[in-house]
Amino acid sequence: MSAVTPSLTIAVAKGRIFKESLALLTAAGVAPRDDPERSRKLILETENPLVRLVIVRATDVPTYVEYGGADFGIVGKDTLLEYDGDGFYEPLDLGIARCRLAVAGRQAALTTNERLRVATKYPEITRRYFEKQGVQIEIIKLYGSMELAPLVGLADCIVDLVDTGKTLMANGLHELEQICGISARLIVNKAALKTKYAISVQLLTQFERLVT
Ligand code: AMP
Repeated sequence: MSAVTPSLTIAVAKGRIFKESLALLTAAGVAPRDDPERSRKLILETENPLVRLVIVRATDVPTYVEYGGADFGIVGKDTLLEYDGDGFYEPLDLGIARCRLAVAGRQAALTTNERLRVATKYPEITRRYFEKQGVQIEIIKLYGSMELAPLVGLADCIVDLVDTGKTLMANGLHELEQICGISARLIVNKAALKTKYAISVQLLTQFERLVT
């Protein structure tokens, strides 16, 4: 009797990363068989019967992969920098969903004599960045529309993703300091590389060829 090849699950961050991953998933032969925007299925079969996709919130992708709910993950570097855990490898920069993490606000926002109030959904990255600069801050944790915080006096500035800069401009805000460049990464559960070696390496090699 031949051994059954184990199937492999890829967790992909919802939204922009999923949309930008589709071409790559298709080229790697693992495009979803159903349209995830129409389907209510939580697990999507792909063109490869051994590979399936789960589309989850970006912040949940590292958790799924670290604890083996998924073997591979596709997620932004911003989410990985904020995530506290190391149960996975990060072998590949997929070069998609490129943007940057930046400090933004009104032009003179950083010149305040008071303790700087920074609104963000990235408290860890923000804490580390300002600590390095020797600047004391108070972090206001938000879950969306960071740009609103300086406009209503909730914070002096924000730490957020910036792509074209149009959202900032539309709200009279400026990119004040760049923290780092961001793109989507492939992450791999450490155990899966051993227990599902053949299919993991095959898929990893395919992705590698497509992005390098
Ligand atoms: P933009 O107006 O093009 O600078 O985009 C800024 C808005 O889009 C902000 O609300 C960001 O949080 C969000 N954004 C920009 N780039 C990304 C990305 N790669 N992934 C997810 N959200 C992003």
